[in-house]
Amino acid sequence: MDCLFCKIVNGDIPATVLYEDDDVIAFEDIMPQAPTHFLVIPKRHISTLNDLTDDDAPMVGKLQITAAKIAKQKGISDAGYRVAMNCNEMGGQTVYHIHMHVLGGRAMTWPPG
Ligand code: AMP
Ligand code: ZN
Repeated sequence: MDCLFCKIVNGDIPATVLYEDDDVIAFEDIMPQAPTHFLVIPKRHISTLNDLTDDDAPMVGKLQITAAKIAKQKGISDAGYRVAMNCNEMGGQTVYHIHMHVLGGRAMTWPPG
């Protein structure tokens, strides 16, 4: 599978890993858009949010709970942070393995551009 994030999961491409278990892995974004910017992804390849099924509900919940735990560890929870998942071209998706962005350490604007 020629997928960048699958290569990170497999250890073929290095990443600064923040958390890892059997289902999910979290790592620092290589081009941070905020003082804190990390990604939480499922280890199993899923191309877009459109490909999720009902069976994926526990995994999707785990992505969010992992994001919140790491945000707390990084000390951005109380001030606040942004969680985003981009879907397909108009959503701004560039890597086609679903991932949750977590951005913090600066004030976010709404709506996003
Ligand atoms: P998206 O545009 O929502 O698909 O987000 C893809 C994200 O992956 C971007 O924020 C990139 O900076 C990030 N990214 C791309 N390559 C890597 C990499 N090798 N390690 C960590 N993050 C990456
Ligand atoms: Zn993948």
